[in-house]
Amino acid sequence: MLIELIDKYYEDRREERNQEHFYISDAGKCQRVVYFSMKGYPRKEKEARVLRIFDRGDITHQRLMRALFGISKIRVIASEIDMPSKEIIHGRADAIISIEDKLYVVDFKSMNDFKFQKMEVPEPSHQQQLQLYMHYFKVPQGIILYENKNTQALKEFELKYNYKLCKKIISDFESLKEQYLDQDIVPPIPLELKKAREGANNNEGKFPWECRYCDFRKECDKVEEGTKK
Ligand code: SF4
Repeated sequence: MLIELIDKYYEDRREERNQEHFYISDAGKCQRVVYFSMKGYPRKEKEARVLRIFDRGDITHQRLMRALFGISKIRVIASEIDMPSKEIIHGRADAIISIEDKLYVVDFKSMNDFKFQKMEVPEPSHQQQLQLYMHYFKVPQGIILYENKNTQALKEFELKYNYKLCKKIISDFESLKEQYLDQDIVPPIPLELKKAREGANNNEGKFPWECRYCDFRKECDKVEEGTKK
């Protein structure tokens, strides 16, 4: 009884609005996902369990933020800071802090034990997100702090600002807008995903995880079917 009521609570708070801007979390994502989301294609509704996972992520951020505020060597310059709204990409950085008069953008992430144990460098999409924060906030270094969801162990990675990489990410967003969104053309499947899908040879278990868990898989498959005709 209680589980059904809790599930309903989460489902009622589910926000499935059409995306109106590029978000920083779109960096490194399949461009088709961003296209489908901005064009309002129907997406698979997230189950209550997945919504609870997101909720837990928010609580992890608050907990880590509280710790930063409580450390005397750290000066929290700002938390939950929106990027300048005139920019093509929207987003909110977790924190900008100062340690020994050096500024850092901080981005918190949480991940499961399996991924956490294996991780030796930050995920490329997380690196891209931090790079964009550094770019827009004009802070030359940043830290991605990962928390293991199962054990609460932490791992941190310090990154230096990379101007070339930021320019490339921003130009990819601009071409997605100009070549596909403005023209109502569905972008192609990114090359790496395309190769992985072909290699899976219709074996669902071998499909790339991005596609297996994609909210727009049905729509994407329809486009692929259409191109075969
Ligand atoms: S199913 Fe895969 S290729 Fe298609 S939109 Fe989703 S992530 Fe991209």
